[in-house]
Order: sequence, then structure tokens, then C-alpha cells
Amino acid sequence: MNMITNHLPTAELQALDAAHHMHPFTAGAELAAKGARVITRAKGVWITDSEGEEILDAMAGLWCVNIGYGREELAEAAARQMRELPFYNTFFQTTHVPAIALAQRLAEMAPGDLNHVFFASGGSDANDTNLRLVRHYWASKGKPEKSIVIGRKNGYHGSSMGSGSMGGMKGIHAQGGLPIPGIVHINQPDWWSEGGDMTPEDFGLARARELEDKIAELGEDRVAAFIAEPIQGAGGVIVPPSTYWPEIQRICDEHEILLIADEVICGFGRTGSMFGTQTYQIRPDIMTVAKGLSSGYAPIGASIVSDEVARTIDEAGEFAHGYTYSGHPVSCAVALANLDILVGEDLVGNVADRTGPYLKEKWEQLVDHPLVGEAKIKGFMASVAMTPDKAARAPFLASKGTVGAIARGHCFDGNLIMRHVGDRMIISPPLTLSKPEVDVLIERAVRALDLTLAEIKDKGLYR
Ligand SMILES: *Cc1c(COP(=O)(O)O)cnc(C)c1O
Repeated sequence: MNMITNHLPTAELQALDAAHHMHPFTAGAELAAKGARVITRAKGVWITDSEGEEILDAMAGLWCVNIGYGREELAEAAARQMRELPFYNTFFQTTHVPAIALAQRLAEMAPGDLNHVFFASGGSDANDTNLRLVRHYWASKGKPEKSIVIGRKNGYHGSSMGSGSMGGMKGIHAQGGLPIPGIVHINQPDWWSEGGDMTPEDFGLARARELEDKIAELGEDRVAAFIAEPIQGAGGVIVPPSTYWPEIQRICDEHEILLIADEVICGFGRTGSMFGTQTYQIRPDIMTVAKGLSSGYAPIGASIVSDEVARTIDEAGEFAHGYTYSGHPVSCAVALANLDILVGEDLVGNVADRTGPYLKEKWEQLVDHPLVGEAKIKGFMASVAMTPDKAARAPFLASKGTVGAIARGHCFDGNLIMRHVGDRMIISPPLTLSKPEVDVLIERAVRALDLTLAEIKDKGLYR
């Protein structure tokens, strides 16, 4: 075992963690009883815990470590920038070189006329920017009543007041008075769980047309924007039917609704194109980016905005909005170094042409496992839906997520980080994943599924 000596023993770390550290999206008491796994370092697609165990991180942290862990270039970029200019703001008519360089770089990379960048510290606050931006945009055009934003049930756009409201997560809405007024939701294009007897294609169209119905119900003059992830991530890697996005695009165009594509997960190569909007040939007015923008090495997010939207906002005078860390120089420098690697090593090509097809072939074979009803994959985002009855696409009788949590536990114990969303298991590995690492991933996933099946049969949950 690889002993690590420069920190307290694991049990002491866990006790201190439980005593003082409030974890996001975690039942504190439950975690305190069990003790958190302490991650100490990482390299490539592998993370190491305080006991020296090497774990394959098939989630890339939280969907973000696209270039893999341990890249010196980013550490160097951060150190260099901290020495030269650790902070300066971009409020009140000042700027600095890293923010200029990254904004230009993103304008070049982003499709179409998305040429203007408003920086944030992450995805939630970038989406809060978007909410204010689209309302201010229409108000500036003399239509202040065109202010409602339509999101989707089970969409995820962050957990702040605005982003959590635009998202459609029941658990988030249940706490703290969300959604805020002026935000409504339509159903998601999740054929496996909700498609009934329809073909996926018909279902995709039907779910897209809910947007048109909602616009008709509210009145076109009251709807500012529609926000969606090209592929829902936190919702369970819901790959939409092929008919869905073309219809959404048509509806937004015909009804003059701004389209916000939340690319926080899909952006920077994950779906096999630089952006998910390119994979689905969507033409958004605003794109939200974060996560893969810096591969998680430093916190940063951004709204990338079309010429037309930016011009309208500029002409209206001051946009009274900004974060102290908008365009933080260290984060911008790290993001630039990250993009150099992403492009220089053609990691998007690894997803599209090299490891990607191999992962797809292996992942789709998981559907032969007795517990798996559907195995979906697009680029380096994938999910399996577990079910006791494949033909009926039936849920388990046990409450939703019970079996998922058991499977997640077996992955964890088998040194594979795979997440569960309800009873779906999902992955989103670093884009550097190699074919031999795919083999390890699949082998550990199958072992975890086998152990899950045995355990739920034992406990009488396989029904
Ligand atoms: C993670 C995520 C966010 C929120 O980003 P944070 O940096 O956690 O605030 C927003 N949208 C999507 C699609 C995400 O996956």
C-alpha cells in the first residue's frame, strides 16, 4: 500500500470533516456516520485516497476534469499569473491581459456569432447572469413584459436562486422558496422513463412541441428565453431523441424566443464536438460554459453571447451586474493553458475518433447485463438504466434511487467512481481516457452490476 505520511490518519480527518465541513448535496448526518472518502491526489484519470487506494475517476471530478489530473502546464500558468498579477477586477473600465486573451479565444472557438464573453466564477452564477441578461435584453428592446424563462423538469443549471429556479430539480425546488417567479418548466425528453408506447422519434417531437404549447399558453410576448442542456447531465445523462433539437430550434426561431444552451457539461469536447450545440446543430443566442473551461483546475464560468444580444445590452447603457471574480486573472490563465492542451492534443478527436468509438462499443454491450435495460452514450457521456423488467422499462418497486445507491456503493468499493441518478448509473470520464482504461472501467462496472444484482436479489428488491 502506498502510505501517505503528510496528513492525519483517515479516521481523524473524517472526524474533523464531520465536525466542521458542511458538504454540498450530502445528507450530513448520514455521511458523518460513515465517514467521507478522503481524496489526496490525482494523476491522469486516477485519483488516490488517504489509504493509498487508486480509483478510476469515471466522473472526471464533477464532469469537469476534461484534460485529466496532474498537468504541470496548468500549475505553471497559475503560478506565473499569481506572481505577475494575482488579482485585478474588470469593473469600472479596467481590464487585464488574461481576461482579454480568454474572451478572444472563446469568441474564436464558439460557433456562429457568439463573440462576446461575460465571465463568472462557475456555472450557477453564469446562468444567473443569463437570467438577468435575457430579461434586460428584452426590456432594452421595449418589451419588459417579455420576461418569462422556460426551463425543463429534471434540467440542471446550478443551485443558486436563479439557476436553481431555471433548473427543474424537485429536491432543489423543495428548499428555500424556489422557483422564483417568472420561471416555468416543460417536460424532459426522457424516452426511457416517460416515452410509454411512443417511438423515441415521436416522443422527441412531442416533448419539443410542449415548448410551443407553453409559449402559446403564456403568450409569445411574455416569454424571454428557453434554457436547456444539449444533453441533460445531472438529470441522468438523458440523450434526447434525434427529432428533439431540430424542433426546439424551429420553435425558438419562429416565436422569437432566445435560446440559452447550457454547455457547462457538454462544452469543450465531451460530446465529440467542441460544443454540444455543434453535435446537435443548434444555434443558441447564449451559451453557458464552466467546468471543462478550466478542467476544474480553477473556478471559472462564462456566458458567451451573440453579437445581437451583446449590441443591444451595450446600447442600453450600464449592465448593472458583475462578480468580484468575473474574469479572475489566475482562472483565465489556467483556462487558456487548459484550452491549449485540449486543442493541442486533439482531445476532442480522442472522444470522436479514437477512444470514443471503443468506449461506445463496450458501453452499449452493458445492455446484455440482466440489470440493464438501456445503455446510452454520446461521446464521453453515458448512462445505463437499471430495471427489473427490460421489456416493460419498469422501475423497481423499491423507492427510486435505492438500487442506484447500492450500485454506487459497489462501484465505490471496487475503486470506480460512477455516479447514480435515481436508478441510472452514469459516467463522464476525462477526455484523455485510453482504451486500456476503458477496459478497466467496463470490468469494474460489470463487477459492480453483478454485486448489485446479487445484493438486491438477496434483499428482495429485484422486482
Ligand atoms: C454543474 C452545472 C452547472 C452549475 O455549475 P457550478 O459551477 O456548479 O455552479 C450548471 N449547468 C450545468 C449543465 C451543470 O452541469
